[in-house]
Formats: sequence, C-alpha cells, structure tokens
Amino acid sequence: MSWGIKNWQRDRILQHEGVPDHLWRKLINLRCLKGLGPDELNHLRDCVTLFLHDKQIVGAHELVITDEMQVVIAMQACILILKLDLDYYENWVEIIVYPGEFIRDYDYADSAGIVHHVHTIASGESWLAGPLILSWQDIAHAAEHPGHNVVIHEFAHKIDMLNEGANGCPGLHANMSAYTWHDVFSKAYAKFCKQVEHGHGLIIDPYAAESPAEFFAVLSEVFFELPLIVKQHFPSVYEQLAQFYRQDPAVHWEERRLDN
Ligand SMILES: [Zn+2]
Repeated sequence: MSWGIKNWQRDRILQHEGVPDHLWRKLINLRCLKGLGPDELNHLRDCVTLFLHDKQIVGAHELVITDEMQVVIAMQACILILKLDLDYYENWVEIIVYPGEFIRDYDYADSAGIVHHVHTIASGESWLAGPLILSWQDIAHAAEHPGHNVVIHEFAHKIDMLNEGANGCPGLHANMSAYTWHDVFSKAYAKFCKQVEHGHGLIIDPYAAESPAEFFAVLSEVFFELPLIVKQHFPSVYEQLAQFYRQDPAVHWEERRLDN
C-alpha cells in the first residue's frame, strides 16, 4: 500500500474513532508513560486508536475484555513503536488474553531437525506472524513490580522477530551500526550473565540471562519502565535502545526528579 493511501486511511480512522477521555485520563499515569512528553502522549493516543482498529483482543477461558483492558494493552504496546511505525505490528491480528498465567505445551523442531517438547508456565508469548498471548493478572498487577512489563516484553519480541527471528537484534535503522549493536549487547549480556551467576546486586530480572532475545526484551521493559536504571548500569545499551526506539525516556524522568 502506498504511503499516501495508508496515511489517508489512518486519517479517516482517527476522524471517526478515538480513546474515550475518561479512560485516557484514568490510564495516563502508567509508569511506562512517565518518560513521555506532552506531544508524545498526544501522538500515543492516535497510535492507540489505530492499533485498536487493527487488532482483535480476545479473552480466553471466558475472560471478558473491557474497553479499559483494551486501552491498557494498546497504550503499552504502542509505546515501543511511538517513533517507529505501526507497520512493525502488521501481518497478524489477534491478541489472546488469559485470566492469569497459562501453560505452554507444544513440540517444535530445531534447526538440526531434533524435536523438543515445551511444557512451561508463562505470563506472555509471541509467535512470528501469529498471535500474541498475555496474562491479564500480570498486566493488572504491573504497578506492584517496577521494571516488569509483560506487554512491552512480548511486543519487543514481536519487533525483534521481524529481523531473522528472535535473536536480540531487531532490524536496525540506516544510521545505526550492526557492529556496534552486537558489540554493545554481547558485552552487556556477558556482564549480566556473570552477575546472575554470582547472584548479587541484581536490579534487572535475571530472566534476561536466558538468551540474547530475552535480554533485549527485558532491557526494553526496563528502558521504558525505569530508564534511569538502564542508563546507569548499561549506558551503552541505553544509547542503542534510544537510537533504535528513537526515544530518550530518561530525559523526562530526570526532569521530574529535578522538579520534586
Ligand atoms: Zn520473553
């Protein structure tokens, strides 16, 4: 679809649909939005409208999905692509929401053709060109766990998968260097794995040590939720994430800190 037609369609959607004021006002205090300025918040509202027009959010196990639940999920999903484009989430439609954690139970073949059986409990899951699955309990209680955000985590995987599968390196912009990204992330990942091994001073979820893909997804959560933590402990990673997401959430957090 040409850029002109796409923008015309988006303008038409924005003229006829929107996030109700009462929901926007109620939800605007989400921690992951604290790194956004006023213009960015306005833009986020348009992104949320377009996102909800495109996606179908359905409840599993008889979970009823309210308008508020839809907006909460959309706001957090759209923060990642606020300065990118909604096209990062194209070619799939469904978001399935379970009331709580769910069981992943399936077989898959690795690149050598060996079949593995997966049976684990999860709070979220993303499939390439397939649905994204979330636990509502984890979304609803996110405020109690600063730095954890299952929506941002799973959508970071979706973005990562667009470039040769989930490997911790999304498709970089023309002004970014793949060499620098790999150098920065592999050094930070090795440092983090050592910290996890020794089990001391962990501020970031140790699950990030599972693989480079999980490291990218978890660091993306913390980048938006508690950006000053990433900036302080992994400054080069912060810089790469800021270039990739084209956002600098630490600036607004620092301004807030000075105001208080
Ligand atoms: Zn993950």
